[in-house]
Amino acid sequence: MDEERRSVRVAIIGAGFAGLGMAIRLKQEGEHDFVVLERADSVGGTWRDNSYPGCAVDVQSHLYSFSFAPNPDWSHLFSPQQEIWDYQQRLVREHGLESHLRLGHEVLGGEWDADAARWRLQTSAGPVEAAFLVSGMGPLSNPIPPDIPGLESFAGTCFHSARWEHEHPIAGRRVAVIGTGSSAAQFVPAIAPEVERLVLFQRTPGWIIPRFNRRITRLERLLYRRFPAVQRAVRKKQMVQREGMGLVLKSPVRAKLIEAVCRARLKQQVPDPVLREKLTPTYRAGCKRIIVADDWYPALGRPNVDVVTDAITEVVPEGVRTADGTVHAVDTLILGTGFEIMPVADPLRGRDGVPLAERWAGGREAYLGTAVAGYPNYFMLVGPNTGTGHTSVLLYAEAQIEYVLQCLAHVARTGARSIEVREERQRAYSAGLREQLDGTVWLEGGCRSWYLDAGGGSSVLWPGTTFAFTKLLAQLDPADYVLDEAPAREPVAA
Ligand code: NAP
Repeated sequence: MDEERRSVRVAIIGAGFAGLGMAIRLKQEGEHDFVVLERADSVGGTWRDNSYPGCAVDVQSHLYSFSFAPNPDWSHLFSPQQEIWDYQQRLVREHGLESHLRLGHEVLGGEWDADAARWRLQTSAGPVEAAFLVSGMGPLSNPIPPDIPGLESFAGTCFHSARWEHEHPIAGRRVAVIGTGSSAAQFVPAIAPEVERLVLFQRTPGWIIPRFNRRITRLERLLYRRFPAVQRAVRKKQMVQREGMGLVLKSPVRAKLIEAVCRARLKQQVPDPVLREKLTPTYRAGCKRIIVADDWYPALGRPNVDVVTDAITEVVPEGVRTADGTVHAVDTLILGTGFEIMPVADPLRGRDGVPLAERWAGGREAYLGTAVAGYPNYFMLVGPNTGTGHTSVLLYAEAQIEYVLQCLAHVARTGARSIEVREERQRAYSAGLREQLDGTVWLEGGCRSWYLDAGGGSSVLWPGTTFAFTKLLAQLDPADYVLDEAPAREPVAA
């Protein structure tokens, strides 16, 4: 990076969906003094990293793309990973973001310099400083291996679903898969027909709802291209339908409606009563993230697939040992075991020099999921309590991006140097969230999931509707924030 670009008005962390969206909107608002710091050597975030067979979005593509950058050419209702990644790369080209990208710049740490009113960042490619810092780091970007004894001893090939080893051909292999979340639900059906044998280790069965994917016809695509309002209307309809499902799912009582649909499908797709029993969840639907799949149950019913529900005790060089003493011998071990949740901004030190991770030791909280008291000029996209199990996370990111733009405009308009949310507003907001989360299926549905914090409660999920979130962020209330004016200058002698 050339010297002058080491100091910018806005630094964005991460070139995934959130970071790219922020960059596009900054440009559209006439702000060009920004960089996007990305640790990898290409853009895309989770849609670059997750390239496992069968990877596709499980929210309709019209919703899982930006309203300000619609794509009339999605091939399917739920498009595959490569198409989503292509869309992201096209956004970079079409919005002229190349010169703003700083690839290979992992943010290792950062401090708020109150005197200069700037963030001083250490990156893997040298220091960068910025007046404003926007994190688009993504809540599910770092894969975690399971805490299983002996994992390192495995003699075959072992990889995480988000780090798929494509150079390791899967055809004809004896494969063990650990995990039955949304990722496994996509790659297991994709590889099951190719492998010699697949042993699926299931700790908790998921509730599965149908996806009903289909190709988007040429006529539809033509219509979207010629009449963008039609695509907007379809998007809106999908959004409203998903909100309806979200409302049903949120309540443990109403969730039983979804369960009835899921059970009927399980019965239809899994004739074997023993397997069906294994695959029947014992907690309320929606408690964990619901899985959207048409081909999961048929894949598990294949003669070359075994679903093992005995607990894993250890991994040994030749395979996986379960509590009954059986060693399931395999040559490939695939970990569909999920991600570290919200590793957001751990290295950042705020106004008091306290790392955010330490500030959050008792629980993560951010005002509107976006601003944190003690961390001036710092904004998070897809921060605490912006998660959703029923619709597109991009709807939330977009609302936040617009909100951040309002904050930047407010600072510029008032001539202030920095903006920081009032601690009491953040506290009151978080207390309100906790109240709304009480009694929801996520807390009361009888499961453990990555939605929940170690001490109970959830700093992941938004408890209301998407409309409520968008409305809340639509208008910045200046009273929520403290502005720091620039120190008065000595009069210049004539
Ligand atoms: P996940 O939902 O966290 O699932 C991890 C799985 O691994 C669970 O079945 C878990 O069992 C199991 N597991 C973890 N540690 C284990 C251990 N030590 N022994 C046995 N089993 C273990 O991870 P994911 O499937 O990668 O999905 C993560 C999130 O990514 C999803 O919830 C979703 O938000 C997102 N995603 C989205 C899409 C999309 O299309 N938009 C696709 C894929 C993923 P337990 O359930 O018992 O904990």
